[in-house]
Amino acid sequence: MCGIIGYVGKKKSALSFIVEGLKCLEYRGYDSAGIAYVDDENIKIVKSEGQISNLETKLNMNVESSIGIGHTRWATHGIPNEINSHPHRSGSITLVHNGIIENYMEIKDELGKEGKKFLSDTDSEVAACLIDSLFEKTKDMKEAILLFKKKVKGSYAIALMVDEDTSKIYVIKNLSPLIIGLGSDENFIASDVPAILKWTKQYVTLSDGEFAIVDDKNIDLYDIDGVEKEVLVKTFSGDASSIDKGEYEHFMLKEIHEEPEVIKTLISEYLMEDNLSSLPNLRNYKNVTIVACGSAYHAGLVGKHFIENNLDIPVSVELASEFKYKKLFINDEDVVIAISQSGETADTLAAVKIAKSLKAHTIGIVNVKESSIAREVDEVIYTLAGSEIAVATTKAYLSQIVLLLLISIQDMNLVEWKKELSSLPVKIEKLINEENLYKKIASEVKDRDDIFFIGRQIDYAICLEGSLKLKEISYIHSEAYAAGELKHGTISLISQDTPVFAVITDEIIAEKTISNIKEVKSRGARIFLVISEDIYIPEEVYDFVVVIPNALKSIVSIMSVIPLQMISYEVAKLRGCSIDKPRNLAKSVTVE
Ligand code: GLU
Repeated sequence: MCGIIGYVGKKKSALSFIVEGLKCLEYRGYDSAGIAYVDDENIKIVKSEGQISNLETKLNMNVESSIGIGHTRWATHGIPNEINSHPHRSGSITLVHNGIIENYMEIKDELGKEGKKFLSDTDSEVAACLIDSLFEKTKDMKEAILLFKKKVKGSYAIALMVDEDTSKIYVIKNLSPLIIGLGSDENFIASDVPAILKWTKQYVTLSDGEFAIVDDKNIDLYDIDGVEKEVLVKTFSGDASSIDKGEYEHFMLKEIHEEPEVIKTLISEYLMEDNLSSLPNLRNYKNVTIVACGSAYHAGLVGKHFIENNLDIPVSVELASEFKYKKLFINDEDVVIAISQSGETADTLAAVKIAKSLKAHTIGIVNVKESSIAREVDEVIYTLAGSEIAVATTKAYLSQIVLLLLISIQDMNLVEWKKELSSLPVKIEKLINEENLYKKIASEVKDRDDIFFIGRQIDYAICLEGSLKLKEISYIHSEAYAAGELKHGTISLISQDTPVFAVITDEIIAEKTISNIKEVKSRGARIFLVISEDIYIPEEVYDFVVVIPNALKSIVSIMSVIPLQMISYEVAKLRGCSIDKPRNLAKSVTVE
């Protein structure tokens, strides 16, 4: 969610670096952007509502600056306008902030009593003002930062500059992601590693509560108590080319096309190398709870079916944002599995911390290495999906459900699974390539206001994801319903030509779902069916059909999400939507 970028050094134009870096962070989602840079010893601020291109038109790129900070804002406090966008300036402090200062109202009142004035509605300006006030009193930035950390509650990644010494950037981190990239005679600040990969693969992560002072030569890192600590440099080992769209029109399409490769990687890593035993054995625990948000939550619901059916143990799946406030019956005999693509999802991270405080064993299923959840959990499993840039997840979601399947089959006869799973990438590739069918279906539904998805059991879990994908990127309202539940209310919304997508991958419940399809069809619905090849359904029951190739039942379920991803993509394209960066959404949701 939102992003921070910074540069200090004389080797590049700070302005060009920051603008390029902001573009790399765009995928995280934002609604306004801004930059502060030093020009002739003075800090200048330029900001603008909307796209980074709006900001660019206001910037004089010929200014030679050797230090600056940039920000893409995803508004949490105050509407997305120019005044509320960052950087914020208070006294001698110029600051960008990602996250939420929870007790900002109380601090704002106190600062107001000191005579401080505020221009914006943001919590971030309050942070700037507080640091300025503490700096005025202590005349020492380190001291001011320590007092600031004591005073504020909430999440923050902050980069700031001080009028008194414009050769340095100060960074402070708590619960929101922030890294420092290392160059020679130059250093970089960023919310995530991809933003700096063009320049360096060496970086330093800050833990919660830490802060650093960065200039072109040095990084002075301080622990939570302000004691200087050793800087541990990490090297990014992933593939930097994955952050390029290549031949594809959108990252989302590229990432869907990468799905066969992702499956191959997972299978060869865990199944073919007989490495399944490196995955956790869930039978060691009394209760299994999965916590996640959004698509990862839907992946958890699919995983619940795999684990319950294959391992015969009950699983509860909880929305991380709800888990935090509900009465929990979790103890040291239980396991809590947190699923998050970015590994930075604030709600999921908070849920992990609660599970740990209750002494449960915690497992993270995450995509981004070294992310906060990866570092927090007792045991981490990487989904190995590579960088995912499109805000709406596709390949990372798929990797999560495949991994959950692999966890669930450890003590089964693997010969058949190996055979079946090895043919999955080719089958998925074929499904992805049914583009003309998806385009046709998309043109049938693109102008509708409401679309329904129905299925039972695991098919319902897949429907939830299909419906979310469509909503996220096409802005068409849609709902997923357990097929048998429609008649208990929602069927009143079905009228002439209402599109209903029905997913049937399980023969045992096929008859029941078919009855539900007939119920809506007889009320005028148009039926778009996604069905396993080996399930027979009379032609008069549907209007369009996507057939999923024969395979073991769980594998058919996994495949059935592919057409739904592709159809959402094609619908969004026909509607001219911003596919990779849908409005209001952020890739990495780092606020609770
Ligand atoms: N809470 C801050 C604001 O609304 C920062 C939001 C962000 O993380 O971009 O301005």
